[in-house]
Amino acid sequence: MPLKYFIKRHNLYSTPKLSTAINPVDIGVRVEVPAAIMEDLTSKVYEPKFVYFSKTFDDKVRTFCVNPYGEVVMENIDGIWTVNGHSYANQRTENTNFAILCSTYFTEPFKEPVLYGKNISKLANFLGNGVLVQRLGDIKRGRRSNEKRIAKNLVQPTLKSATPGDLSFVLPYRYLVNILEMLEALDQVIPGIASPYTLLYGVEVKFYSLRINLSPVLETEIRNLFAAGDGAGITRGLIQASVSGVVVAREILRRFS
Ligand SMILES: Cc1cc2nc3c(=O)[nH]c(=O)nc-3n(C[C@H](O)[C@H](O)[C@H](O)COP(=O)(O)OP(=O)(O)OC[C@H]3O[C@@H](n4cnc5c(N)ncnc54)[C@H](O)[C@@H]3O)c2cc1C
Repeated sequence: MPLKYFIKRHNLYSTPKLSTAINPVDIGVRVEVPAAIMEDLTSKVYEPKFVYFSKTFDDKVRTFCVNPYGEVVMENIDGIWTVNGHSYANQRTENTNFAILCSTYFTEPFKEPVLYGKNISKLANFLGNGVLVQRLGDIKRGRRSNEKRIAKNLVQPTLKSATPGDLSFVLPYRYLVNILEMLEALDQVIPGIASPYTLLYGVEVKFYSLRINLSPVLETEIRNLFAAGDGAGITRGLIQASVSGVVVAREILRRFS
C-alpha cells in the first residue's frame, strides 16, 4: 500500500502515534596522517571501520569517514564551524584523514544532545576563529601547537586555515581520554597512527535525526510500518543504514511467506 494511503488510513496526520527517544550525539576529532601509513589497509578496504570500547570509561568510540589521499575541510552547521573530510576522484594529497567519534547518550533530565554538540564546537570556534589543529605529540606533552611547531611537523595539514591550538581546552576530559586511548589501540593495527606528528582537528560532530521508538526488527508502534536508515534516527553511516534496510526487508519477506 502506498505510504500516503497508509498514513491516511491510520489517521497519522491528525493523531501522531509514534513516540520518540533521545538520540546520542557523536563528538570527536578528525585525524590526519601520511597516506602511506594507512595504504596497506585502505588499498584493500576503502573505508575500514573500527570500534573500540575505552578502558577508562567503557565508552564506544569509532572511526568514521576515512578519506584516503584526501583533505580535511571545514563544514558550517547553523553558523558553527566544524571539521569534516573528503577525497577527490582524480586528485590526491599525501595524507589520509578519518574521524574518531565518541557517542554519548544523555539520560534524564538532559534532552538537548544537539545543543551540547554545538556548544562544544562553538568553544573551538571561540578559541581558534574556526577549526583548531594540534599535533598528537603536543597534546601528550600538555602544550598547544603553534605555527612554528606545525611548520616543522612531518605531516602538513591539508586544511591550511585551521588554527594551531590546544584541543584539551575544548574537548571534555572524557572525550579526550577516549580519543587518545583509541589512537593507541589503533597504533597496534596501523603502526604510526599514534606518532607525535599525527594531526588532530577539532571539533568533528555528528547529529542524528529525531529517533522514533522501534522494535528489534525496526517496526514502528504502528503494525507493518517500518522505519530504517538515517531518517529514522537509528543510523549515521552508510553500512549501518544499508544493513537496517536489509533487516526490514527480511522481516517483510518473513511476514509474506
Ligand atoms: C557530507 C556527508 C558525508 C558522509 N560521509 C560518510 C562516510 O564517509 N561514511 C559513512 O559511512 N557515512 C557517511 N555519511 C552518512 C551516509 O551518507 C548516510 O548515513 C547514509 O547515506 C544514510 O542512508 P539512508 O538510505 O538512510 O538515507 P539517504 O542516503 O539520505 O537516502 C534518503 C533518500 O530519500 C530521499 N527522500 C527524502 N525525502 C523524500 C521524500 N519526501 N520523498 C521521496 N524521497 C525522499 C532522498 O532524496 C534520498 O535519496 C555522510 C553523510 C554526509 C551528508
